[in-house]
Amino acid sequence: MPARPSAHRSFRKNTARKVVRHLRDAYPDAGCALVHRSAFELLIATILSAQCTDARVNQVTSDLFRKVRSPADFARLPLAKLEKAIRSTGFFRNKARNIKACCQMLVENYDGRIPRDLDQLVTLPGIGRKTANVVLGTAFGLATGVVVDTHVARLSRRLGLTDAKDPQKIEQDLIRLIPRTEWVDFSHRMIHHGRQVCGARKPRCDACSMQQFCPKNGLIPSG
Ligand code: SF4
Repeated sequence: MPARPSAHRSFRKNTARKVVRHLRDAYPDAGCALVHRSAFELLIATILSAQCTDARVNQVTSDLFRKVRSPADFARLPLAKLEKAIRSTGFFRNKARNIKACCQMLVENYDGRIPRDLDQLVTLPGIGRKTANVVLGTAFGLATGVVVDTHVARLSRRLGLTDAKDPQKIEQDLIRLIPRTEWVDFSHRMIHHGRQVCGARKPRCDACSMQQFCPKNGLIPSG
């Protein structure tokens, strides 16, 4: 017989509490892996990180941010030069176009500053809800939502915190389950756990502190 909705909800809530606790113990200092010195640099690095590793983005930005520093600098930079500088991050034409348009809007509408508001941030070219949550949470300490990247999505499903596939729906499930004060750290820690233990292809359940209660949804039992 299927579980009653209220029993299902309280099971998820209970699991979420355990996940938050275990992740906090395992990764007390987990933070953003994208190197940045300001909210603006984090914004650019996050745009570049789409379909690209953080290590590659850090390589590219360590050089880029030495030469081009502010929204005004990026707005002035010829498109071809920007494309060349970020080429190795993939989808470079699209990213360069978005970065230029985003920086132009920052200069024209926000005096070159990053707005501390989710609704305003998502109106900037190339900035979706995920990027906005990353910047507001990591650079300003504002918990406006839960960052759902590929790791957070995969782990949330495996741990039974959501059945959804769409990142926005996953985020809504997580927002209901995780205390707001934990939203920012929760994402950083899930990403660390996804990289270090619960990989996409070969999760190392034997080495995972959550294996006692993790339902391992979507995984084919071995042996
Ligand atoms: S027990 Fe396995 S599937 Fe569950 S979180 Fe840990 S590594 Fe991932």
